[in-house]
Amino acid sequence: MSGCLPCELEHAEASAIAYRDERWACEVAPGYDVPGWFVLRLRRHAEGWDGLTVEDAAEFGPVSQRLATALTAATGAPSVYFLSFGENHRHFHFLVIARPADLDPALAGASILTLRSDHRDAALARGVAADLREALARDRATASA
Ligand SMILES: [Zn+2]
Repeated sequence: MSGCLPCELEHAEASAIAYRDERWACEVAPGYDVPGWFVLRLRRHAEGWDGLTVEDAAEFGPVSQRLATALTAATGAPSVYFLSFGENHRHFHFLVIARPADLDPALAGASILTLRSDHRDAALARGVAADLREALARDRATASA
């Protein structure tokens, strides 16, 4: 236990992993396992925007774009949120949330975080991770066609 949640995701079970490359990872995180919610993180421990190398920053955009596009394809969500506060968990990461079409408008934006307490469902969240992996694989197949 490093005490750093994003670092501990390096040990996530395969079913919780939606995406990984050498530098970036996107997983369902314990405690944040609401279906359609993921943590996009730098795989090595680095804090804040200042902690990124030029290469980290250059890859962040394309990786984020691919994830957002694939998550939209996988869920039909009209919007994908990228939320980062960097205070409770200083390790560079974003909470990536597929905002459901039928979300109560009062819960749009940062208020969606209030769903965390009673909408967690690890099995369903991992099901969305599988859908996201498939959407990313389709995207890769299309890109190389
Ligand atoms: Zn860390």
